[in-house]
Amino acid sequence: MMTASQITLDYRSDTVTRPTPPMRQAIAEAEVGDDVFSDDPSINRLQERIAALLGKESALFVPSGTMSNQLGVLVHCEPGDEFLCETGCHIYNYEQGAFAQLGGIVARTIDGEGGLLDVEQLTDKIRPPNAHLVRTRLMCLENTHNMAGGRIHPYEQVARICEWAHEQGLVCHLDGARLMNAVVASEVSAADWAKHFDSVSVCFSKGLGAPVGSALVGNRQLIERAHRKRKMLGGGMRQAGLLAAAADYAIQNHIERLEEDHRHAQKLAAGLAAIDGINLTPSEPETNIVIFQIDPKIGAAENLVEELARDGVRMLAVAAQRIRAVTHLDVPESEVENALRIVKNACLRLHNN
Ligand SMILES: *Cc1c(COP(=O)(O)O)cnc(C)c1O
Repeated sequence: MMTASQITLDYRSDTVTRPTPPMRQAIAEAEVGDDVFSDDPSINRLQERIAALLGKESALFVPSGTMSNQLGVLVHCEPGDEFLCETGCHIYNYEQGAFAQLGGIVARTIDGEGGLLDVEQLTDKIRPPNAHLVRTRLMCLENTHNMAGGRIHPYEQVARICEWAHEQGLVCHLDGARLMNAVVASEVSAADWAKHFDSVSVCFSKGLGAPVGSALVGNRQLIERAHRKRKMLGGGMRQAGLLAAAADYAIQNHIERLEEDHRHAQKLAAGLAAIDGINLTPSEPETNIVIFQIDPKIGAAENLVEELARDGVRMLAVAAQRIRAVTHLDVPESEVENALRIVKNACLRLHNN
């Protein structure tokens, strides 16, 4: 029998959000056409709006953040080229090395300080022209940094890295899956973040709450090249205005509310830090992601996650002793005390076993 205490609080990811009733209304009313002929008014409208928001000429709607990131790499690099990125980044770790599979492109990873890079670490990473070597072509950054616990790459550092990269003849791509979280938390506009990059990928399906979709944003020429590559990858969608309408609704209505998710994450983090056997890294979330370390006396992360799921709190084990919890519009902030009580009890039970 379901009781009130058995509702599920799903903190696994901000991708689990379901469309709200007004978003479903926007989907139902969307005008559509065949986007492979560029005839879908809802897609065209979304692409214009997101390009304007990021201060760029053009945008391309794609099915996923993986596709927009990979298009970003593929439009900048040729076979035998290399890009520089942080060791824990999504493009390198969680996209099957698609740049290598599809593009003959190599990644060179650099360990950031808690996920954050600075110019001093990069200056000796550009290969000299030499027939033995790959060609360094692209600098990739991720903001907010997912596996670093939703950290914001400090603005001055981002500006310095991109300025240096451009001076060296590199191009710059931003994995901005959660750029809007950085915008809301930093009070730096999306266009100000984006102006340092040649291409930016943003996701509508994370904290913004749309069911599907991302965009690659950049200048017209770059987006035309990405358009060709999208077709090659099978990403040309027909009456996908239904999806674009949801994304368009999300960027008009769900950006400012990310602040609630950030406040919720701070409360969750403070409560978790007070539980015996839990340590937070970083100690305070800057946006909507909380990553915590559990002491071996509680057991493995997988075990705690299973135990929590039985009590209606879902989180994600991201390493043997590390768990990720993400706040979003489908877990109300008012449930945070409930969630914390469940985590605390589960830790006590496992500890005593
Ligand atoms: C989720 C995510 C992506 C990829 O998005 P999908 O839509 O799941 O393919 C890319 N980068 C980061 C940082 C992400 O968190």
